[in-house]
Amino acid sequence: MTGAAHSKEAGATRTTCPYCGVGCGLQVTRDAATGAVAVKGDTAHPANFGRTCSKGAALGETLGLEGRLLHPVVDGVRVSWDAALDRVASVFSATIAEHGPDSVAFYVSGQLLTEDYYVANKLMKGFIGSGNIDTNSRLCMASAVAGHKRAFGTDTVPGIYEDLEQADLVVLVGSNLAWCHPVLFQRLAAAKAARPELTVVVIDPRRTMTARSADLHLALNPGSDVALFNGLLVHLQEAGKLDAAFVQDHTNGLDAALHAARALSLAEIAEITGLSQAELRRFYDLFARTERVVTGFSQGVNQSSAGSDKVNAILNCHLLTGRIGYPGMGPFSITGQPNAMGGREVGGLANQLACHMELGEPEHRRIVQDFWRSPRIADRPGLKAVDLFRAVKDGRIKAVWIAGTNPVDSLPDADDVQAGLKDCPFVVVSDVMAVTDTARHAHVLLPAAAWGEKDGTVTNSERRISRQRRFQPWPGEVRADWWIFAEVAKRMGWADAFDYAAPVEVFREFAALSGVENAGTRDFDISALADITAEAYDALLPVQWPCPKGEVPRSERRFFADGQFYTPDRRARFIATAWRAPAEQISHDY
Ligand code: SF4
Repeated sequence: MTGAAHSKEAGATRTTCPYCGVGCGLQVTRDAATGAVAVKGDTAHPANFGRTCSKGAALGETLGLEGRLLHPVVDGVRVSWDAALDRVASVFSATIAEHGPDSVAFYVSGQLLTEDYYVANKLMKGFIGSGNIDTNSRLCMASAVAGHKRAFGTDTVPGIYEDLEQADLVVLVGSNLAWCHPVLFQRLAAAKAARPELTVVVIDPRRTMTARSADLHLALNPGSDVALFNGLLVHLQEAGKLDAAFVQDHTNGLDAALHAARALSLAEIAEITGLSQAELRRFYDLFARTERVVTGFSQGVNQSSAGSDKVNAILNCHLLTGRIGYPGMGPFSITGQPNAMGGREVGGLANQLACHMELGEPEHRRIVQDFWRSPRIADRPGLKAVDLFRAVKDGRIKAVWIAGTNPVDSLPDADDVQAGLKDCPFVVVSDVMAVTDTARHAHVLLPAAAWGEKDGTVTNSERRISRQRRFQPWPGEVRADWWIFAEVAKRMGWADAFDYAAPVEVFREFAALSGVENAGTRDFDISALADITAEAYDALLPVQWPCPKGEVPRSERRFFADGQFYTPDRRARFIATAWRAPAEQISHDY
């Protein structure tokens, strides 16, 4: 799906906001004489139809060069790119030769573009041969990934933004949509203004701005979501809302899920959640009698030691009622980061392969390794974010490359992260800023391109791939992240496999891989774009996946209404989720 006039129209560059997972389209005009940049919403972009929030609208004010890292630096001294890249490649190669592939690691970011992410992941998993690449998206979305894969057999968000407007009931769980995804909140508010019968329920311990605007706010105790949704599952079944044909033909595991859910009485759920039985009944009755329900969830669900179970407790309710994949209904994971979804697609987490393939699946490893023609491929999951920095601290990781993120500030146990980096023999940081709490520990600093200088794609919460386009000249010696990773890979001996001249070449390869031996077995398939020309890539309109070869890329695809899932038997799985007190909840099952 391309449009010749899309990338440039009346002097404006169409691009995508870099701040959150809504993925709003923006139109940017730049005064060539003064460099002043004006930003407004792109009326043609289906994520926002011209809307912006204050963050997106103020992007033009963030483009100054103050504090930017503009040149490569090694051991505190400005050097040439060749010198910096040679140093990174030689130290990584020597470390791998002496200590093995698992002695090195990459920690990357949901702020990277998909092309950047793809190249980094390919280098670590397919050429270095370790699973030790993880991303700050783990903190954001790993619970949703695990929950989706357990229930659907694939990490797929079933719905699209329009569903929030078409629903008769929107339940927001652990989501302060008004602050964190403002344009989605605007869309929901506009839908409610046009159709006041649209009911909004917010489930959140906090009295947020979103909660204050809701028809019903359930201020449950932190960590009690599983109990709340287990009670809902039982209520739906007892109220006769089970979609018998859907459950019988397309699912497994309901009895076990109901058995686990029945462990708690309504009185016990009231005690655990801190909600009155009357509040519980009101919510349960509302959910039961409303066919068109969207349950949106975000970090209040994901960032929890029981995050995966919370996700599955929600998915169970939609599976039991068959309310999934139709207009105005379904569970909806709302991603925090601008490209958390793109990272999931390229396999940016330590336990994934590219294109929704699995490290643990020998056939998937064969497909990817054959396609990459790589000398080896990681055959077991690498270290996940927190464990990765524990391994830095205890000396197992001897060389680490951190790209586009600041783990000394953003990871739990930040003092330990800092202590580990301080003693790590080799730390590389590629970033846009010269001074961060992480960068101060770097032996090598590599200047990366910022928003407006980058060129590639991102994927938003509704699986919509959009272009981020470059409209600023590169200041100093900054370079694109995909280029930096590829140049290091070339110097490590893999020049042929990383010989990309432009991001479109990375995108073509990524799109082609998604279609290899797929034939509908994996829902992530964008092989229709595998032969995209540079001109068509430049003009690419926002497009949702899947778009397999032979099909015209399209928008507004919902998943699973046909009852076809991506488990081995093509059935969705109910997951038995037993509520446990938060202090006892530790899960390592994702
Ligand atoms: Fe940017 Fe998110 Fe605001 Fe849209 S809602 S303009 S993507 S910060």
